[in-house]
Amino acid sequence: MGIMIASAVIAFIASNMYYHYFLKPINDEKITEIATNTVHIIEDNKYEERDDYFLALTALGYQFYLIDRDGNEQHYGEAFKSYELPREQIQRVLDGEEYHGITNFPWSPFITGFFNNELRNTIGVPVHMDGETKALFVRPNANVQFGEMRFFFALLLGLALLFSFLFVLISTTFIVKPIKQLTTATQKIAGGNYHIKLHVNRRDEIGRLAEDFTKMSTRLAQTEEKRQEFVSNVSHEIQSPLTSIQGFSQALQEEDLPARMQQRYLSIIEQESKRLSMLSKQLLTLSMLEGELNEEDFIAFDISHQLKEVIATTEWQWRKKNLTIEMDVMPLQIIGEPKLLQQVWMNLITNAIRYTESEGTITVRTNRSQDHVQISITDNGIGISEADLAHIFERFYKVDKARTRTENSTGLGLAITKKIVELHDGIIMVESELNQGSTFHVYLPIRKTYV
Ligand code: ADP
Repeated sequence: MGIMIASAVIAFIASNMYYHYFLKPINDEKITEIATNTVHIIEDNKYEERDDYFLALTALGYQFYLIDRDGNEQHYGEAFKSYELPREQIQRVLDGEEYHGITNFPWSPFITGFFNNELRNTIGVPVHMDGETKALFVRPNANVQFGEMRFFFALLLGLALLFSFLFVLISTTFIVKPIKQLTTATQKIAGGNYHIKLHVNRRDEIGRLAEDFTKMSTRLAQTEEKRQEFVSNVSHEIQSPLTSIQGFSQALQEEDLPARMQQRYLSIIEQESKRLSMLSKQLLTLSMLEGELNEEDFIAFDISHQLKEVIATTEWQWRKKNLTIEMDVMPLQIIGEPKLLQQVWMNLITNAIRYTESEGTITVRTNRSQDHVQISITDNGIGISEADLAHIFERFYKVDKARTRTENSTGLGLAITKKIVELHDGIIMVESELNQGSTFHVYLPIRKTYV
C-alpha cells in the first residue's frame, strides 16, 4: 500500500512538473489567442450584443473579468476563487500591455496551475470599448471544460489503486503461504527433524527455494544418519577391545593361573591396547582431514623415495609371509603433503601384504603422463568381491570381520586413504577379482604436481 501511495504521489508531482515546463506555455498561447479574438469581436460589436457573446463564451467554458480605470468590475462566468492581483499589473494592461499570468504562475509540487482558478492565473489584454480602455482577464473554466472528465479520471485512478490493492493482497497470500511452510520446515529442522516434505509445485524462485530446501533437508538427514552410524561404529570398535581387556585382566587375577596362560592373556591385552591406540590415531587423522589443510605443508618431494621407504619399513611383515616385492618405480617429484601421502602408501602396501597369502607377489608401479602421475599397487592375494568393492572406501567397512579382527584392522584405512588422495585433488580406483588379487591405482593431477 505504501508503494502504491508513494507511486501515486510521485506520479502526481512528475505530471505537475510536466505541465509547468511543457504544457503551460502552450496553454498560455492558446488562451492568449482566445483573449485577442474576444477583444476583436467585442470591439467590433455593439454594446447590446457583447453580453450575449460573453455568455456564449462562458457556456463554452471560459471565465472573464473586466475592469476599467475607475475600478468598475464585471464578471462573466464562474467567479474566481481569488481576485488578488497587484493594482500596477492591472494598470499595465490598461496601458496596453498583455498579462501572461498562466506562464508566470509559480510552480508548486502539489498545486496544479492548470486547475487553479485565480485571477493571477489568467491572460490579461486591453480592450477598447465604450470610448475607453478596459482590462480583460480570461482563463478556461476547468469545472465546465473538464467537469465530468475530472470525475472520470479521479474514478479511474481510484479504481486502479483499489484493484491494485486487492490483487497485491491476493498475490501476497500466494507468496506468503509457501514461505510460512518453509518457516515451519526450518523450525522442524532446528528441532532435529530432517524428514521434510514440502508441497510447493511452483516453477518460480519460491518453488526453487522449496526444492533446494527439500534437497538440503535430505542431505542433512543423510549426514545425521551417517553421524549416528559413525558414533555407533566407534563405540563398538572401542567396546570390544575394552571388554576383552577387562575379561583377561580379571582372569589374570586368579591365583593359580599357569605362567603359560598368564603370558597368553598379557599378550592379548597388549594386542587389544595396540588396536585401541591405532583406532584413536586413525580417528584423529580422520577428524584432522575434515578440516582445512595448511597449504604451507604442501612441498615438493619424490614419491619414489617414499614408496621405497614404506617397502623397507614393512620388510619384516612381507618377509614373514615370504612375499616377493616387485618395484617398477621412476623418480616422481610432486607437490603434496609428504606425511599424509606416506600414510596412503603405507595403508595400501600393508593391506596388500595383509590380504595376500604366503609366497604371493606385490608389485609397486609408477607412471606419469602430461597431466597426472599414477601409482599402482598390485597384489595376487584374496581379492575383493564385486559387492564389497562398492563399500571398501566407507569408514569401518571390513569384508571379513573375523579375519580382520586377528589382523588388527579397523576398516578406517581406505577411508583415510581416499580422503587424503582427494585433498590432493586426486582419485583412487580399485580393480579386483576374488581369489585373483587386487590393484589400487592412485592418480594425482599435475596441477598440484611438477615433474
Ligand atoms: P582395514 O583396516 O580393515 O584394512 P581398510 O579400510 O584398509 O581397513 O580396508 C577395508 C577392507 O577392504 C578390508 O577390511 C579388506 O577386507 C578390504 N581390502 C583392502 N585392501 C585389500 C586388498 N589389497 N586385498 C583384498 N582386500 C582388501
